[in-house]
Amino acid sequence: MADPDEDVTAAAIPSQTELTADTAGRSISTATVPPPFTPPAGFPDLIATACYDQFSRLPRRARPQASREWALLAGFLLSSPPHTQPVVVALGTGSKCLGASQLSATGEKLADSHAEVVARRAFRRFLMAEVRRAVVGGGESQWLEKEESGRCVRLKEGVRVHFFTSHTPCGDCSIFPRKNETEYDAGDERAMKKQRCEEEHEPKRIALEDGEAVMDSLPSAENLNTSVSDASDIYRTGAKPVVGETADPLQPGAGYHVTGVLRTKPGRGERTLSMSCSDKLARWLRLGLQGALLSCWLPQPLTLSSVVTGPCPYSEAAMRRALLGRPGLIVEPVLAQAGKEFEFSRTLVEGSAAEGVKVVPSPCAVTWSRGCTREFEVSVEGIRQGVTKKARGTPAARVAICRREVMQEFVELAKDVALEQLPACLRDEDSLSVLGC
Ligand SMILES: [Zn+2]
Repeated sequence: MADPDEDVTAAAIPSQTELTADTAGRSISTATVPPPFTPPAGFPDLIATACYDQFSRLPRRARPQASREWALLAGFLLSSPPHTQPVVVALGTGSKCLGASQLSATGEKLADSHAEVVARRAFRRFLMAEVRRAVVGGGESQWLEKEESGRCVRLKEGVRVHFFTSHTPCGDCSIFPRKNETEYDAGDERAMKKQRCEEEHEPKRIALEDGEAVMDSLPSAENLNTSVSDASDIYRTGAKPVVGETADPLQPGAGYHVTGVLRTKPGRGERTLSMSCSDKLARWLRLGLQGALLSCWLPQPLTLSSVVTGPCPYSEAAMRRALLGRPGLIVEPVLAQAGKEFEFSRTLVEGSAAEGVKVVPSPCAVTWSRGCTREFEVSVEGIRQGVTKKARGTPAARVAICRREVMQEFVELAKDVALEQLPACLRDEDSLSVLGC
């Protein structure tokens, strides 16, 4: 099943000129870009806490095994003045990604179950439900309103979208100079744990070659590349440059990586075809969060007002380089780091584990979309958790955020809208035959 939303190697960051048209050739205006966002005091922790609280309200099977499994969490939130408390509308957890040979050509499995990507798929389901509320049967959405044409929708005035991730995204965001080498080299176990990031997202430490003194502060975005090569040691990412990009030199210390290149996701064994979370975030910031299907109803790109990261090794300069420093950015989000830690972070779980217990990442990916049918689901290896062997390959094995189910939901939405009320792009003959009308 072809899916323009799918996140595979070929989906590179677009050039500036490509941003004026989406995949269906419709023009995209950036005239409705929101004004710059000024976060209130304590905003990063407000965002993080809202996501942790919502996660704690999910059914028990969302939780990793106590004192044994850790998890990564990501979420989308909406805010609307005068309310100061953002509302969590989608959550995702996960740290796994299928290799190329495990992918489903018919879109029945989740290829990429990193928390950021699961959360974004959950967010698109939330948006689909809101579009339905706004356009079917005279209903009303809390967040969306009809455009003047009456066929398309947009965010209501003042509504902002925020993104939270409990960890630094894998890929280019994760490559930056290490701080506190002295602390680390002193053998302080707690300091080492504090410096650790997360498994396949983990920017791994490289042994110091010459024991040189560490940088006291992180560099500005402008001179980051120079500073990475000048640093005595950097964090690593398991994400590999895509074919055609400059290869990593793989030298010891700071010479291990190149920066600013597109990368595929890390994975054990077979190489993955999914782009790193840094690259996907960069793409969402340029094309909008809604994806190609929903852009039929939401033609204006949905942008982020803030990106908040949890307590984890982090560099704002590296985040700027990876997310903002490439061409085509629609609007610059506020970047911030929260101090409050996720209950199931690797650091906290390792701290609470009994002696000799091997602490591992949870194999599950949790998805939650506020107010949707099938609001909460858990998947393992891209299919529903607990599905029997016999049911594999049947609809019972599919999670609601997989490509096939999303397409089905989209078609059903289109069928429920009166023909004359459909957006123009869905009323041509080809579209109507796809929709079964
Ligand atoms: Zn990732």
